[in-house]
This record gives sequence, C-alpha cells and structure tokens, in this order.
Amino acid sequence: MPVHHQAQGAGDVIVHKIENMGSLGNNGYIVVCPETNQGVCIDTPAEPEKMIDEVNAHGIDVQAILITHGHQDHLAGYTEITGSIGAPAAIGGPDAGLPPSPPQRSLSDGDTIAFGNRTMQALSTPGHTDGSTCFLVGNHLFSGDTLFPGGPGRSRSPEALQQELNSISSKLLTLPDDTNVYAGHGPEDSTIGEARRRYTVFMSKSHPADLQGDVDWLNT
Ligand SMILES: [Zn+2]
Repeated sequence: MPVHHQAQGAGDVIVHKIENMGSLGNNGYIVVCPETNQGVCIDTPAEPEKMIDEVNAHGIDVQAILITHGHQDHLAGYTEITGSIGAPAAIGGPDAGLPPSPPQRSLSDGDTIAFGNRTMQALSTPGHTDGSTCFLVGNHLFSGDTLFPGGPGRSRSPEALQQELNSISSKLLTLPDDTNVYAGHGPEDSTIGEARRRYTVFMSKSHPADLQGDVDWLNT
C-alpha cells in the first residue's frame, strides 16, 4: 500500500511513496500540488502498474516523469509508465542515453519543473552515476541513489565516491535540517539533519584512499 505524506500547510505538497517496486525494494514517488491535483512522478521501477494505478486512483494530472539516474532498476517500468501516463520524461544530461527511449528533456543543475502551483528543482549530484539528480520541492528532497539513511549510494570507483561525497556535502547537506529525504530504495525516510550528523561521524574518521562501493556512515 502506498504511504502518503499529507500537505502540512500552505505551499506544501502531497507525497505518495510507492514501495517495493520490483525485487530490489525500489521506491517510486508521486508528488502532488494539493490545490490543482497536478503532479510529477519520480522514477519508473519494475511493477509499473503500482504507480499507474496510484495515479489513476487519485486522478492525478501528471506533468512530468523525473528520473533520478539511469540505472536499470529505476527504469524497468519506464516504457510502460511513460506510455500509459503520456507526460514528458526528464533525466540528468549525462544519463540521457540510458533510458530505453530518449527522454524529452535533459536536466542541468538548477532546472525547474512546474506542477500546479509548485516547482520542483533539479540538483545535479554526480557520483553514483554521472547524471544523478536529486529533486527538491519545499522541505522534501528526493535523493535517488545518492543519499540513503545509512550512507551514500554505491560508488564504482574511489574517484566516484569522492565526487558523490562532494555532491552530498555541497548540494544536499546545505539544505535545512528539517528537510525530509526520500531515497530510491527502502521503506525508511530520513532528514538532512540526521544525514549531516551521520556524515560528520564518517568524516571524523580516516579512510583508505581506495575506499569505494558500499559505504555506511557509522560503520565504515
Ligand atoms: Zn543506482
């Protein structure tokens, strides 16, 4: 069953979190302007009917389908969701060649996506992939595989990990503490305040120069 964040006041959004899309625990999100019922979808994992059914059940008028990055587990339902919903797809420029059909829009840092009376902002956060992008509206951050409650997403080289850590510290940890963080996998949500606390523990320790792969803020 989808989890819903109800709008908390003027300017807030409704967040529909659709968990367990596919076998890797991927999350899909639908973010909605409560005044207009216009929204955006974020990521297109397997079991696309879960997202399509949620859009239809709430009669949401989807303005864009935003992809956090070009890994297959976030794109397994891309063809079905873009075909069924019919809204333009968008992904960070360096990942634009990865979806099974070309997205309508390539995103750069600071680009905006309007839905109803709200605006989603794209934050370029390279590292997990070159085109990894987080999406921010109000105090809600959709972090893809860049930032999880336990640590950064998997990196494929020491250089990629450093790039990812730079993205996290310069683009994400500069947001207010009470920013909600919704990741690309798993049931747990977090906040920027909690991420900063754990990141500080990680940075207070020394690490081998060749560190890469799976990093846990508190146990690496
Ligand atoms: Zn990924």
